[in-house]
Amino acid sequence: MKNTTCKEMGGCCDAVITGNTAEEWKTNGHTHLNSMTDEAHVAVKKGMEEGGPEAAAKWEAENVAKFSSAPEADAAPVEETPEADEADETPAV
Ligand SMILES: [Zn+2]
Repeated sequence: MKNTTCKEMGGCCDAVITGNTAEEWKTNGHTHLNSMTDEAHVAVKKGMEEGGPEAAAKWEAENVAKFSSAPEADAAPVEETPEADEADETPAV
């Protein structure tokens, strides 16, 4: 499973788009884009439509490579190790 933001896909917000494969990720990206009705997302959608198949192919080439090189993310968020680990250093007698 990998995560990128909408922005990293060429979108305009920080929503996290996930996918196990590039195909799944693209589908989720489209679902997100289609579910958003604000001006910024509508503009992204319009740009994609106006770009036509050539722009779509270019996007595909760039972004599938980007997705492939993105680090694997587990479903669970990365746990931060608490800093207060050194306080309890009473030597054993
Ligand atoms: Zn977005």
